[in-house]
Amino acid sequence: MSKHVTHWIDGAPWSGSADRRGDIHDPATGSISGSVDFASVREVDDAVAAAAAAFPAWRATSLAKRVQLLFGFRELLAARREELAALIVSEHGKVHSDALGEVARGLEVVEFACGIPHLVKGGFVDAASTGVEVYELHQPLGPVAVISPFNFPAMVPLWFFPLAIATGNTVVVKPSEKDPSAANWLAALWQEAGLPDGVFNVVHGDKVAVDRLLEHPDVKAVSFVGSTPIARYVYENGTRYGKRVQALGGAKNHMVVLPDADLDLAADAAVSAGFGAAGERCMAVSVLVAVDPIGDELVEKIADRMGKLRVGPGCAPTSEMGPLVTGAHRDKVTSYLDAGVSAGAALVVDGREHPVDSAEQTGVDTAGGFWLGPTLFDRVTSEMSIYTDEIFGPVLSVVRARSYEEALELINANPYGNGTAIFTNDGGAAARFRNEVEVGMVGVNVPIPVPVAYFSFGGWKSSLFGDSHAYGPQGVHFFTRTKAVTQRWLDPSHGGVNLGFPQNV
Ligand code: NAD
Repeated sequence: MSKHVTHWIDGAPWSGSADRRGDIHDPATGSISGSVDFASVREVDDAVAAAAAAFPAWRATSLAKRVQLLFGFRELLAARREELAALIVSEHGKVHSDALGEVARGLEVVEFACGIPHLVKGGFVDAASTGVEVYELHQPLGPVAVISPFNFPAMVPLWFFPLAIATGNTVVVKPSEKDPSAANWLAALWQEAGLPDGVFNVVHGDKVAVDRLLEHPDVKAVSFVGSTPIARYVYENGTRYGKRVQALGGAKNHMVVLPDADLDLAADAAVSAGFGAAGERCMAVSVLVAVDPIGDELVEKIADRMGKLRVGPGCAPTSEMGPLVTGAHRDKVTSYLDAGVSAGAALVVDGREHPVDSAEQTGVDTAGGFWLGPTLFDRVTSEMSIYTDEIFGPVLSVVRARSYEEALELINANPYGNGTAIFTNDGGAAARFRNEVEVGMVGVNVPIPVPVAYFSFGGWKSSLFGDSHAYGPQGVHFFTRTKAVTQRWLDPSHGGVNLGFPQNV
């Protein structure tokens, strides 16, 4: 039966009839599995109105009560993670173990948010002046919007809304229209946990919904994750309307392998980080920088591992890599294979030739699915489109560098600055890299350095617009504003008019 996904407003699914809808696909089969309503300005306004109406009572709710709700939500999410993972697999296409990993990383942010009383404790000083105390309040902003991409339909919203809610804000989530169901599943879970209606709302749709959220006067902040052009647009427009905005964009993540590295470990890491989730991760390694003289040996080891990868439907336990999210995206990624060859790169492994596990092996008819196997290019140079563009698919480009300095220069000249990694056994070289590289998240012998929930996630340069990274202390900072209170309890013996500027005495 075909499913129908609609908005979640004020604690209930929307009961109206949408003027516009989009198809939801099962990427493994290519079939249409359902439809999703696209919000008009009116539905966005209804969701924001619900969030605005819920705000006064929610911000006044005690920290003790908020923490209880967060713990309840955490327990439900942990207990039912398999269900959410299966939903992600059915719409995104990633393999089940990877979807479970996504839920686990989102869960960590909920766990961090459970410690909210400690995180919003302000500073206090006694006797700033004689008889004067100064302290700081961390207050919520109001209704906030979370706009998320297709590649992590649960984890990316979970980067933001646990802390937004924990700090006393109310939320409207606008998920990707490609895999919309996870957000509604999370909304229903919140309701089960006892969150008051209107604190967490979901609107589905496209640019119409995003534009309305950006301009709506009651939306006080926007957390966006997606491609760089849209992130820049969201940042510029959201701030133009006076909102606080953090807009995380695209990436081109480089993994540097120095000659002293363990090449087997480096090859394992390159294949895992390059082809996990079919390369549809903002922290995927898409460029491997092989520092002379190890290039030939490393390319051979990587190609060998790629040949053994099992490509098949995400729901099959044997699959290591699933399909791409849509047919259009698969075709766009595939076009880069021809572009790379025309530009003169060496096509070492052609993903079009990689076998997809059959219906006999997996029980799924994959004939119409959005498949492309892992691809490896060697001798890529920095002016080729396979290097300059974010392909966002299972395509790994090897660039040869003569030295550490040349590798570093390449990365620092790249407009993106999301993640990077260095593979070496030389602590001095790693320390130098860590300090010199202009990238927000750095791995040392760790290929996908996504920070744990009590640090913050964010790139530099064209990978993030705004000042605050996601979750961790910067997330708390983003969803609160401070108020400094200077107070004195008057002593009746202390009086008299004084027109001088207040001095600390
Ligand atoms: P996208 O930019 O196409 O879409 C992101 C969101 O913006 C979606 O909700 C979408 O509906 C909306 N949107 C799309 N076009 C719009 C427009 N013209 N105006 C207003 N809103 C619009 O991104 P995607 O394809 O869903 O996701 C993949 C991208 O996200 C990649 O570039 C990836 O690197 C990036 N990403 C970045 C991070 C990070 O942390 N930096 C994390 C995950 C994904």
